[in-house]
Amino acid sequence: MSVQTYTCGHCHFQFNGGVTTCQGCLGTVVWGATQKEKHEAGLFGAVIGAGVGGLVMFGLPTALNKYLSMDVAMGFGFGLGALAAIAVLAAIGYVKGSLSAEKQHRGECRTFR
Ligand SMILES: [Zn+2]
Repeated sequence: MSVQTYTCGHCHFQFNGGVTTCQGCLGTVVWGATQKEKHEAGLFGAVIGAGVGGLVMFGLPTALNKYLSMDVAMGFGFGLGALAAIAVLAAIGYVKGSLSAEKQHRGECRTFR
């Protein structure tokens, strides 16, 4: 049985999979995406989710009223419910964004100092 070893990107020290600190340079070894990367990608997704929600809840009624002479209430008459729907879409966007960051960095091993 052989143990797979990884090479530190900073000091080229060899260490085993799963360690959290490089014994060569004492850097923090991160497997996959960092919390910060996941959080930032999540926020980006949340902004997009909220943008889509805002377009559907407020942009769509505005467009229907203007171009099709309809009489659709803002947020389709859901009132604060429209804001809740936007919040839900933002939350979904956050999860999707953070999952995509995780996917992007899967299998990566980086050392931070
Ligand atoms: Zn190192």
